Amino acid sequence: TDSSSNLYKVVLIGDNGVGKSALASIFAGAADSMGSDCELFGGEVCERTVTVDGESATITLLDTWDPQDESKWTQDQCMHTGDAYLIVYSITDRASFEKASQLNIQLRRDRQSEDVPIILVGNKCDLMRCRQVSVSEGRAGAVVFDCKFIETSAAMQHNVWDTFHGIVRQLRLRRDSE
Ligand code: GDP
Ligand code: MG
Repeated sequence: TDSSSNLYKVVLIGDNGVGKSALASIFAGAADSMGSDCELFGGEVCERTVTVDGESATITLLDTWDPQDESKWTQDQCMHTGDAYLIVYSITDRASFEKASQLNIQLRRDRQSEDVPIILVGNKCDLMRCRQVSVSEGRAGAVVFDCKFIETSAAMQHNVWDTFHGIVRQLRLRRDSE
């Protein structure tokens, strides 16, 4: 296959405080010895080659989303530049789940003709006692928006790499169906 088709831009979007940067820093290798594999550009963009199912893929992960951006310029950029999206909310914050739904709607509308891979990510699943969004609500949301769903904990490093590998698998499914 054409190697350029193994280069993917994945964008993190979601409310403030849901854990986007925490997920990005795990991707960047802050928590392991392979950090040198990753090139950081200003701390918000990280490029890393990963092997998923025996095939390598280079992911550029963007953590540039600013929910408070008033010009909307960065937000529009984010909505149009990604090959795939991780829409993150916190399971401890219902408002962030509602925000994730809005972002899903916006993305599906802005990129109507494209079948952009999206994973709805319910982060902070280690904080079970503060849970405001149930697993079944998260799953139901993903059905509505026709995307995948996963709960993660950046703090416990639970399901974080499954999420990055999952988005690569979805990108390949789409690539192979073209
Ligand atoms: P962002 O605004 O979406 O980039 O969120 P941050 O990554 O800056 O995280 C916001 C706060 O939540 C920080 O204090 C993190 O340490 C904390 N945090 C992020 N992910 C988790 C998680 O999975 N579990 C817990 N308990 N805290 C988390
Ligand atoms: Mg952040």
